[in-house]
Amino acid sequence: AVSAWAKVPQGPPVSITEAYKADSNPEKINLGVGAYRDDKGKPFVLPSVRAAEKKVVESTLDKEYAGITGVPTFTKAAALLAYGPDSAPIKEDRVAITQSISGTGALRIGGAFLERFYPGAKTIYIPTPSWANHNAVFKDSGLKVEKYRYYNKDTIGLDFDGMVADIKAMPKGSIILLHACAHNPTGVDPTEEQWVAIAEAVKEGDHYPFFDMAYQGFASGDTNKDAFALRHFIKEGLRPCLSQSFAKNMGLYGERVGAFSVVCESGEEKKRVDSQIKILVRPLYSNPPIHGARIASEILNDPALNKQWLGEVKDMADRIITMRALLKENLEKLGSKHDWSHITSQIGMFAYTGLKAEQMDVLAKEHSVYATKDGRISVAGITTGNVKRLAEAIYKVTG
Ligand code: PLP
Repeated sequence: AVSAWAKVPQGPPVSITEAYKADSNPEKINLGVGAYRDDKGKPFVLPSVRAAEKKVVESTLDKEYAGITGVPTFTKAAALLAYGPDSAPIKEDRVAITQSISGTGALRIGGAFLERFYPGAKTIYIPTPSWANHNAVFKDSGLKVEKYRYYNKDTIGLDFDGMVADIKAMPKGSIILLHACAHNPTGVDPTEEQWVAIAEAVKEGDHYPFFDMAYQGFASGDTNKDAFALRHFIKEGLRPCLSQSFAKNMGLYGERVGAFSVVCESGEEKKRVDSQIKILVRPLYSNPPIHGARIASEILNDPALNKQWLGEVKDMADRIITMRALLKENLEKLGSKHDWSHITSQIGMFAYTGLKAEQMDVLAKEHSVYATKDGRISVAGITTGNVKRLAEAIYKVTG
C-alpha cells in the first residue's frame, strides 16, 4: 500500500543550530539562540532557581495533577508581577488567568480564545517584523494575521508615525498584538511617551490589545519598568489580555512556565471567561506541568528568594547592556565608519544589526559567526572573550 505520508512535503529547517553544530572552528560563535549565556558562553541556571528547586524537592510534594489552570500560588503571583500590586483589576478580582506551556502556549490559548469568542473580526495585527512564531501561532489558532508598521530600516529604530497611522487605519475593534518590552527581533521599544500615544490610538479605535510579555525584567533589569506599557493601558481603562513567559527572566526555558490572562470588566465576567478557558485547555493538554511552576511560585512568593531573583535578573540585563557597549566600542576602535548607536539604544536579548542576508551568509561561511539572516544577533551570546573577534568579523563584512 502507498504510505499515508507519501505526499508530505519536506519542510524547511526551523533553526540555524544545525549549521553551527557542523562547524569545526573552535572559535565559532553562536548568536542565534534566544537563551541567556554567561560570560563563558555557557547556559546559566539562576542561583535563586537552584535554591527554589531545592525547596520544592525537599518539601516532598506529591505528583498529582494540577487543576486545568495550573498551580494557583504560581498564577496568582504571576498576575501580581505583571499587573502590579496597585492594579485595579487585581484588587477587584477580575483577571482570569491560567498557567500555560510557557509564552508560546499562552499565545496559543489566547489565539484560540479570541477565535472562539471575540465578537469582532477575527484578525490580529502584528508588528513588522515580529517574532517569527507569532504568525504561525495565530494562523494555526484560526485567526487571520495582518501587519502594522513598526521598524524603520533607515533609522534602525521605531517607525512611530507609521505605527500610529496604521493603528488609526485599522477597522474599529481590531485585535492588536503588542510586545510589552524588549521587542523581538528588533530590540526597538517605544518610549513611555510613545506608549501613551499608542494607548490613545488603540483606545480611539476601540481596538483589543493583546500583550506578549516574554521579557519582563530582562529589558531594563526592573520588572516594574518593563511592565509600563501593560499597566498604562489598564490605567487608561483598556482591558487587554496577556501572555507571560518565565523562560528568559527566570531562565526556566525547558520547564515551560508561563501564563495567559484576560482582564475582565467584572468578577462575574471573569468567572465566565475562566470557565471557557478551562473548556479550551482541557482537550489541548488537560493540565499543565507542575515542577517549573512550583519553582517560579517559590521565587515569586518567598520574599528572600524574590529579592535574590530580582538581583539576578538585573545582573543578566546588565551583562547584556555591557556587551552591547563593548561591541560598539570594538567596532569604533577598528575604525568602522558606520553609526552603531542602535546597538546600545536597542534593548533586551537581541540586537538588530542592520546587516543584510548576504552579509549574514559571509559572517557564517567565512567567520563562523552564526545568527539569523534578518541580521538579528543574540547579545546574550556575546562574551568578553569573543566580542573582539565578533567586532572584527562584522567590520570585515560591513567595511
Ligand atoms: N514571545 C516572544 C516575543 C518571544 O521572543 C518568545 C521566545 O523567544 C516567546 C514569546 C515565547 O517563548 P517561550 O514559549 O519559550 O516562553
